[in-house]
Amino acid sequence: MAQEATGKSPWYSTLRRCGHLNFNEQDPLTMDVEAWTDYFLSLKVQALMPNGGGILAFYPTVVPFHRRSQFLGSRDLFGETVASARKHKLRVVARMDCNYAYEDAFQAHPEWFELNKDGSPKRHAECPWLYKTCLFSAYFTEQIPAIYRELNERYGPDAFYTNGWPGTEALEVCHCRNCQKVYQEQTGGTPPETTDTRSAVYRKYYEVYMDRVAEVWKLWQDTVAQKSRTCVYAGNLSGVRAVKDVHRLGKAAAWFYADNQGRSGDEPIWMCAQEGRLAWAIASDRGITNSVGSYASSLPGWRHTSKPRQEATLWMAQAAASGMAPSYHWLGGQPMDTRWKETGRSFFSWLAENESHFRNRGTLANLAVLYPQSTISFYAANGQRERRLNGQPIESTDYLEGMYAALLGNRFLFDFIHEKDLSAATLMKYRALLIPNAAYMRDSECEAIRTYVASGGSVLATFETSLYNEWGEPRKEFGLGDILGVTAAGAMIGPLGNSYMHMDKSHPVLEGFEGTTILPGAEFRIPVTQNKSETFSLSVIPNYPAFPPEMVYPRVRSTNEPAAIFRDLGSARVVYFPGDIDRTFQRSGNPDFSRLMSNAIRWMLNGSEPPAAVEGRGLVELFAWETEPGFTLHILNYTNPGLTHPYISDFYPTGPLKTRFQVPGGRKIQRVRALRNSRELSFRQVGETVTFEVPEVMDYEVVALT
Ligand SMILES: [Zn+2]
Repeated sequence: MAQEATGKSPWYSTLRRCGHLNFNEQDPLTMDVEAWTDYFLSLKVQALMPNGGGILAFYPTVVPFHRRSQFLGSRDLFGETVASARKHKLRVVARMDCNYAYEDAFQAHPEWFELNKDGSPKRHAECPWLYKTCLFSAYFTEQIPAIYRELNERYGPDAFYTNGWPGTEALEVCHCRNCQKVYQEQTGGTPPETTDTRSAVYRKYYEVYMDRVAEVWKLWQDTVAQKSRTCVYAGNLSGVRAVKDVHRLGKAAAWFYADNQGRSGDEPIWMCAQEGRLAWAIASDRGITNSVGSYASSLPGWRHTSKPRQEATLWMAQAAASGMAPSYHWLGGQPMDTRWKETGRSFFSWLAENESHFRNRGTLANLAVLYPQSTISFYAANGQRERRLNGQPIESTDYLEGMYAALLGNRFLFDFIHEKDLSAATLMKYRALLIPNAAYMRDSECEAIRTYVASGGSVLATFETSLYNEWGEPRKEFGLGDILGVTAAGAMIGPLGNSYMHMDKSHPVLEGFEGTTILPGAEFRIPVTQNKSETFSLSVIPNYPAFPPEMVYPRVRSTNEPAAIFRDLGSARVVYFPGDIDRTFQRSGNPDFSRLMSNAIRWMLNGSEPPAAVEGRGLVELFAWETEPGFTLHILNYTNPGLTHPYISDFYPTGPLKTRFQVPGGRKIQRVRALRNSRELSFRQVGETVTFEVPEVMDYEVVALT
């Protein structure tokens, strides 16, 4: 890991704002470098990211096959930008692309490039004159380092960043001679084209591939640090739907650079905050930056028109709230749409005015949500997801998304914890661990959870949690069967609608369901029996016809099959739902599931005061931090018809919000300020509890307690 020679924190770990202009090939004809620097200075950025090279060089390179922009002429666009940035004491990140090169490179070095199965070169889908480079070739170990050395020698940038590499998506399978050799010598054959851990060859390839990524990452870090020890290489990571192991990639990264620029398709607005939670779980001890697209990302998307101001602002706000530094990104030096400029200026300059309150020491969350990497990477994967509904694949992240939505809707404060970080030490600070269908788990991870429960920690788990090892090989029993209190009693059942949960007897988890004796059932479930024959509160009513109405009646009104297990083990409490209630909630939106999860969590917390409690209308996401000057409560206002379908194009203010905030250690608070509204808030402190009212939240509010 690159460190400042002085022993201070490295510069990228304290970076809070970055500006990123992606040059295009024509830019050298017209680009006004000083004007662009002026714009980014108006955003109070601390670093600029201009293009260095890779696909195209924006400086007069002499590295063979490193193609200069055909419009470069006598200009040195990268050099001019570095000089301009230096003049204003801005850091410079050389933005590189290692993924494609031109025909002449392919003719001279065919061994650098990926081949299809039929031996033809892989080309870029939109720009077929570009050839895809192969990770296992010397392009990565010789050509790219040669370019880094040249840039370093001439300009000495503070960092290098590679667009699109390594990424977190599925592994590439290449049929070039290098890769054939790797397959023969290291993986036991050519791996399947799709993610499929049922194949022993795929599993070996996954390890060989991740090893190669780590080897290249280290080589590049060593190369860029040759001129200055503080120079850092950053790969492109963004990760909640990762196939590649984000933990391993993140640990290789001195600087965690996420690339979650906006929504593509019907994703919920909170995807950026979710990204930040995962990044923080892995890289809280380092700098985390997230690229925010100012262009209109969506499906379809537009690279040259602006994202609506409200959508872009909320995306930047989520990055900041979740502990990441936003890097504001535009493409091309001659914009025909400049509406995005003021959006960035307005938010970034506010961020700069309040910078100290974005220097986080740690979160105050009392709940941990397991990020189940193995399940998310490999679950039921055979190229086509095994389980599909109405032609739609069931995504391995659906369970996490459903639980996330329930947590957000009920205003819990929570952190993500990566499965590889499960240990007594990391779990100690949390009152409960929530496990959204971690079907694939290592024995060691089961053991860490067992130890946590033995020490008084509470656990909520759903569906197939621990039924398989990390590669998806079925266990004879739940790996956590002793904790969950159940034994599997047959194969998974589903998808079935119109099944129910019958409330057999009262329980605190079932409060608030007055007026009904049944609740909607999960779409899939694992039939289970209890290890100890105890009565239970919720039993399965199996599905029955939903049509025609004459046939719509339960054939059985309750069964001996539990639909939930609530275990009181002294200070530890365990909740297990054999159904996929998290995913069923994500899919249906039925609020009974959200209430059930929320009630279960409150029961597990057993009366302990939440770190922050916010009362009032609206859908908000909360973050609470200990900061350098004190504490902050971040309130993101998602109350909006554009919540799950881009774009948010107006704000619907919420407030007043009555707030209770627990100050760790009972530190005496002198001042409570709403930073976005720029006003003092009156407050009362009794012991550790500070109460105040936030009058209105338009888009986002940060309450600073100092
Ligand atoms: Zn290859």
